[in-house]
Amino acid sequence: MTYRCGRCGHVFEAKDLEIIPSIMCPNCGYRIIFKVRPAVAKRVKAV
Ligand SMILES: [Zn+2]
Repeated sequence: MTYRCGRCGHVFEAKDLEIIPSIMCPNCGYRIIFKVRPAVAKRVKAV
């Protein structure tokens, strides 16, 4: 699972963060973290 910090925008992988009560940004320590869906391998044809 990929997470993105709500303040600094730092994106980080955190497989084990879901079991931790308080998720914090490893970059700035901010606690508002958004889940980011991993990049889906779906290509859009550019004309
Ligand atoms: Zn941050």
